[in-house]
Amino acid sequence: METKDIKSLTLTELKAQMEDMGEKPFRAVQLYEWMHRKLARGFDEMTNLPLAMREQCGESYTYTALRIVKVQESAVDGTKKYLFALHDGNVVESVWMRYQHGNSVCISSQVGCRMGCRFCASTLDGLVRNLTPAEMLDQIYAITLETGERVSNVVVMGSGEPLDNYENLLRFLMLLTDENGLHISQRNVTVSTCGLVPMMRKLAQEKLQITLALSLHAATDEKRRKLMPIANQYTLAELMEACIFYFEQTGRRITFEYSLVRDVNDMRQDAETLAALLRGQNCHVNLIPVNPVRERAYVQSDRRAVEGFAKILQERGINATVRRELGRDIDGACGQLRRRFLEDRQED
Ligand code: SAH
Repeated sequence: METKDIKSLTLTELKAQMEDMGEKPFRAVQLYEWMHRKLARGFDEMTNLPLAMREQCGESYTYTALRIVKVQESAVDGTKKYLFALHDGNVVESVWMRYQHGNSVCISSQVGCRMGCRFCASTLDGLVRNLTPAEMLDQIYAITLETGERVSNVVVMGSGEPLDNYENLLRFLMLLTDENGLHISQRNVTVSTCGLVPMMRKLAQEKLQITLALSLHAATDEKRRKLMPIANQYTLAELMEACIFYFEQTGRRITFEYSLVRDVNDMRQDAETLAALLRGQNCHVNLIPVNPVRERAYVQSDRRAVEGFAKILQERGINATVRRELGRDIDGACGQLRRRFLEDRQED
């Protein structure tokens, strides 16, 4: 994190910094409110702060704000996909989804990703850089401003591996759930990981009330290694131990993500092995037909295979649902919109 990045500071830190600038503590409260409640896009909007103070802040700090490059709205379900430009010209994508229980935003945590999952578009060019806490918040703030509607759920399931950007992620979570900011309940936040075991254990010990989603995608080490390079570093046995530890520490049940790829991990035997692996765990399985990515040869499982898979799990007492596919017509899968954009830019 850049220390001068004002939107990444906690209220306590901001108070200390304002004091150093010779300002009263209540100015820090006002400033924080402008940034995290009124979602100001710059110091010039903060009209109840003295001009001199705003100018001084402008000189001392950077103030991030995203520029909307593109918005795609699904004609089918109203899902919106945003492509945002960061101050350095990099682009990230976020998704806005409307559910019965409220609006949900899926944000990116990194520009690109270095985890290398074979079916994922975000990782094709590797990691470019981490996002700052402010840049993660900015995605939610920009979408709130653009839609004019409150966001009630946040999922860190866009591009990037959040636990590979741990310190910034944690600060982001603190700011997002802070009562002086948007005050989103921790229970309405989900962080998805491909399974960085030591970081999962570390996160467990923070004892947050967020949901941890684990991208499993296979029920044997051999199959998982074919889909996810991270499986070469940590075995399923180590992963399961970390999941049980997370539940013990936080009381929050784990969500397992399982993307179904035709003839790769969608057979009856796969479902049975998965049920055996998860037996006795207080968990939930989300089945997602894989989103085909042009650069990859994987094919989506058909509806019957997906439903059959879910049924086998349910019969064995495993809580499983098939994720409703949203935004399929708008490059819904991780990293696809950014990728199309970068390709087009290269061709110009
Ligand atoms: N790095 C984190 C979060 C980002 S990916 C993680 O791995 O969990 C969010 C989810 O989308 C993960 O479960 C990931 O495996 C899945 N995913 C990525 N590309 C996909 C695709 N083409 N089809 C279906 N799911 C995909």
